[in-house]
Amino acid sequence: MGEACGLNLHSEMKSICVYCGANEGSSPIYAKAAEACGATLAGREISLVFGGGNIGLMGRIADAVLAAKGKVIGVIPQSLVDRELAHRGVTELIIVNSMHERKQCMTDLADGFIALPGGIGTLEELTEVFTWLQLGFHHKPIGLLNVEGYYDPLLELLKHMEGAGFLHDIHREMLFVSDDTATLLDAMEDFERPQEDKWPSSRTQS
Ligand code: AMP
Repeated sequence: MGEACGLNLHSEMKSICVYCGANEGSSPIYAKAAEACGATLAGREISLVFGGGNIGLMGRIADAVLAAKGKVIGVIPQSLVDRELAHRGVTELIIVNSMHERKQCMTDLADGFIALPGGIGTLEELTEVFTWLQLGFHHKPIGLLNVEGYYDPLLELLKHMEGAGFLHDIHREMLFVSDDTATLLDAMEDFERPQEDKWPSSRTQS
């Protein structure tokens, strides 16, 4: 991960995959946060990888990156293109066959992930990529943009999982949380996945 050139944000994180709502949410603060996030990514010359939709916060962040002369890669299943929901102004639109293929493609293309406020789709994408990090299937940083405490209930749930013995603190703490994109990116830049795997006891048994 860029050891040869030192810890430089631009060389470390060239692209970030953003998960966010296909709706705008009930407050304009969410759209504003998505636009600010897009402007920050473009300002740091970080490409946006996203779901390719032209609606909700997805459309907002893509437009913000493009307006700031940044690069946007959309990854969208054919079935959503056919419903004319694809963003046609992106730098590159990758059309795939299924949602599973889309998520794999987005994961492969990105150097890190940020979840903005969203619904079930966003939650599913976030938890999948977090699960894969926990299992060591990738070693890329994940950030949660906690706009106006939107994700406080999820953070409570994660603590509850830890208290109940289903999540290790070391894994819960891998998720970076901030209400500011620049702060998130700074933290994500220094990320190193803990050595500990999900099943520490299995090592002693073998
Ligand atoms: P949600 O959080 O439920 O609003 O869903 C957001 C996620 O669902 C996005 O990140 C996409 O993966 C997917 N999605 C939902 N609607 C669309 C759409 N019209 N175009 C592209 N992706 C979509």
